[in-house]
Amino acid sequence: MQETLVAPECPECDAEVSLGTDARVSEIVECPECRLELEIESVEPPRLLLAPEVEEDWGE
Ligand SMILES: [Zn+2]
Repeated sequence: MQETLVAPECPECDAEVSLGTDARVSEIVECPECRLELEIESVEPPRLLLAPEVEEDWGE
C-alpha cells in the first residue's frame, strides 16, 4: 500500500486532493471533485495553487 502525504485542499472546491509520496513542487494534479488542474506549490506543508491555463505540453 502506497503511503500518502497529508492531503491538501483544492483551492476551488475544498475537496481533499491526495498526493503520492512522489509528489513534487510544480507538479500538476487534478482535483477529484471539480477536475480542475492544480499545481503543487509546496509539499511540506502540502499546498495547492490553481494551475495556470497553458496549452503547451511540458513533457515529463
Ligand atoms: Zn476541486
